[in-house]
Amino acid sequence: MQDHSGLKISEAKYVQSGHHKKHEKRRVHKTQRIVSTIALMLCFAFLVFGSVQVVSAHTSAFQIMVEGEAMATLPTEKEAKAAVAYYLQEQTELLGYNVVCDDAVKIEKISSRDAVYSSIKDATAALDGVVNVLAKAVAVCVNGQPVMHVANEAVARDALELVRSEYREDGIMDDDINTLEQISVMASNVLPEQICNVWEAANMLLYGKTEVQRHYIETEGETFEYIANRYSLQVDDIKQANPAVDPTNMAVGEAILLTQFKPLISVQIKRMVVSREETPFETELRDSSDLPRGVSVVIEEGAPGENEVTTEVIERNGVVVAQNRVSSVSVVDPVTKVVERGVRMTVAVNRSAAATVNLGNGTLGWPSNGDISSRYGYRSMGYHSGLDIASPMGSPVVAAEFGTVVFAQYQGSYGNLVKIDHGGGLETWYSHLQAYAVSVGSKVERGDMVGTVGRTGRTTGPHVHFEVRVNGAHCNPLLFLGARSKVAVDTSQAELIQPDEITDEPEEDTLIEEEELAEEFDLSEDEIPLDIEPPVIE
Ligand SMILES: [Zn+2]
Repeated sequence: MQDHSGLKISEAKYVQSGHHKKHEKRRVHKTQRIVSTIALMLCFAFLVFGSVQVVSAHTSAFQIMVEGEAMATLPTEKEAKAAVAYYLQEQTELLGYNVVCDDAVKIEKISSRDAVYSSIKDATAALDGVVNVLAKAVAVCVNGQPVMHVANEAVARDALELVRSEYREDGIMDDDINTLEQISVMASNVLPEQICNVWEAANMLLYGKTEVQRHYIETEGETFEYIANRYSLQVDDIKQANPAVDPTNMAVGEAILLTQFKPLISVQIKRMVVSREETPFETELRDSSDLPRGVSVVIEEGAPGENEVTTEVIERNGVVVAQNRVSSVSVVDPVTKVVERGVRMTVAVNRSAAATVNLGNGTLGWPSNGDISSRYGYRSMGYHSGLDIASPMGSPVVAAEFGTVVFAQYQGSYGNLVKIDHGGGLETWYSHLQAYAVSVGSKVERGDMVGTVGRTGRTTGPHVHFEVRVNGAHCNPLLFLGARSKVAVDTSQAELIQPDEITDEPEEDTLIEEEELAEEFDLSEDEIPLDIEPPVIE
């Protein structure tokens, strides 16, 4: 208010009501009054002289009425209006605003009989301090609703610019600062003291009117934190609004002032925030024939990478309302972890005892569920080169170890046969299959399905004839198989390859009589032939 000191004076008057007003006289600076008087005389000299002539010719006079009371009587309406106009000019100069009269001022025509005329100068003086003036201002509207008054549109614009400048900072383009509401102005006449200056207007837009509300303590032990939480306020604001209240000792029923700032407009800004983000590294597994199976060695430690992430952040009145990831650029590439996985199989064959294979971490897995129906070794019919496991038709047959399928087709007494090469001279064979689940070249892991139990080739019933071959020679599979493990494979999910129907009977020479074998080899339990063809396939 200090930038228009004249307002202070008028303010004191305007807040007074009705009848007291007219008894007060405005304290106007003496020199100002003299200047005004000279101006008055020059401006209205013609009217003053003119009026004298008119009076004698007319039977009516004109009174300037303020709230129903005559302030002055002039001979013509023109002069009465001039007196009012001059008063307004005087007030405009004094207040620094364009002013108008409020509704209380009227000019009334009366009979000129017994009229005592005032000069325009005296009539003007009579209005001083009696007439309320309204400043010609503009109302600032938010979404059509007037929220405050400023002197003119330029002030409104400056206030909005000040609001924007509050949010202006490095990295935020002017276009990215927007008010969500529609701001407009419209002409409005108000009491001068209702006009906000640019700073007041900006503050009001930014922080709004402080809404005052009261909370009455309901239970003992309530704290400012509890109240702040309940009304979504800041504890500091409550402290500030209640300096005399001891927050540790508030009586039930005690009133606590709650202040809340409600901005009149929502300023939305868009800013780009750049941050760093860790990215995970990958792990590459390499097979190494230098390492025994089951052993893994980290060749290169992995390291996470780093991305530079740009995020568009939308804030409304300083509160983040949305975040959108715009881009992500790798600034540090992740280092792939390299692990070597041993695939080497150490095969140690002891001809005099039993063939043993050191598989690094152990043994082969069981190829099928079911009971052992025939073991490896001599039988009445001849030499049995594998292990028979009886299972219902269609049961899954799985790989005993990881490896590559090197054979998958019908072979004489074996029927449908799959051979898996495990490296290091070790092969496993799965025969009499009903269907194949693999083909030549397939890479299989231990437990992967290779086919289903069948009775192809020379068999008496559905079973798997499982062979273990070391450097081409069959060995006792039980020496390689570990603890019995349950084969749990869902055959319905497998893509099975149905082999062509083979009707040919196996050739006679695949059967070697016991006697022939005995002649050919002088075998004992300790000496197991490793390089003979399978004499009996059951
Ligand atoms: Zn067999």
